[in-house]
Amino acid sequence: MKPICVTCGTQFAEASAFPQNCLICEDERQYVGLNGQEWTTLEQLRAGHHTVVRQEEPNLTSFTIQPSFGIGQRALLVQTEEGNLLWDCIGLFDEAALVYIRDSGGIRALAISHPHYYTTMVEWSERFGNISIYLQSEDSEWVMRPSGSIQFWSEETKSLFGGLTVIHCGGHFPGGAVLHWPSGAAGKGVLLTGDVIQVVPDRRSVSFMWSYPNYIPLGAPEVEAVVRAVEPFAFDRIYGAFSQMTVSTDGKQVIRRSAERYLNRIHSAGKPAL
Ligand SMILES: [Zn+2]
Ligand SMILES: [Zn+2]
Repeated sequence: MKPICVTCGTQFAEASAFPQNCLICEDERQYVGLNGQEWTTLEQLRAGHHTVVRQEEPNLTSFTIQPSFGIGQRALLVQTEEGNLLWDCIGLFDEAALVYIRDSGGIRALAISHPHYYTTMVEWSERFGNISIYLQSEDSEWVMRPSGSIQFWSEETKSLFGGLTVIHCGGHFPGGAVLHWPSGAAGKGVLLTGDVIQVVPDRRSVSFMWSYPNYIPLGAPEVEAVVRAVEPFAFDRIYGAFSQMTVSTDGKQVIRRSAERYLNRIHSAGKPAL
């Protein structure tokens, strides 16, 4: 069996017993759940959960798990004339979701923003013909189920296909990345940002944290680096990690304004007194 951590949704390599601990949840950016370390398998997940498919805009579909599982993020399928990319990943694509994806032209490759969303990536790569999984190389230590399909990239930006570019931002994780889709939002451009640039509940701003569940902020240099990394790209809309957490327009100004607000707050805190 291949154990899946209940709290973060990460699938581990084939094992005869559940591991003692999940390295991703024991990291300070995550947490071990109230009942201690718990495990499941894809078979169990299939029995109690299903996948919700939602068309976000032409050529962009999101997938989430119901009832919510793991961190609760969405995966996004971007359709281009040169094939489809699955951006970020979730623990379970049920049969109906897989049929939907097949009818939409399948998946040419996966690319993932950071290790919290690696989840069952190898499972779906195999399912679609051992397709490539693009991961930023600085986070390679967090791969819990290795695969020959994983391709680590280490450039500041990497062009994939269909005009798509992954952009290395750092921040939340050293290898944190976002995806630029230039033909999205009716040609105004879209960023898909996972947790690297977090769309927050007002959907008019974003934030940047080292740990979201444990409320540990990033420092100014890291936030500035994220903003600098996306600055050269044209975009209007931002799709964040979670269902309906989307900045529908003016995304570029939203990132600038949000970063400015954030930096003002952390600077006004002054020097630590501890
Ligand atoms: Zn975990
Ligand atoms: Zn995260």
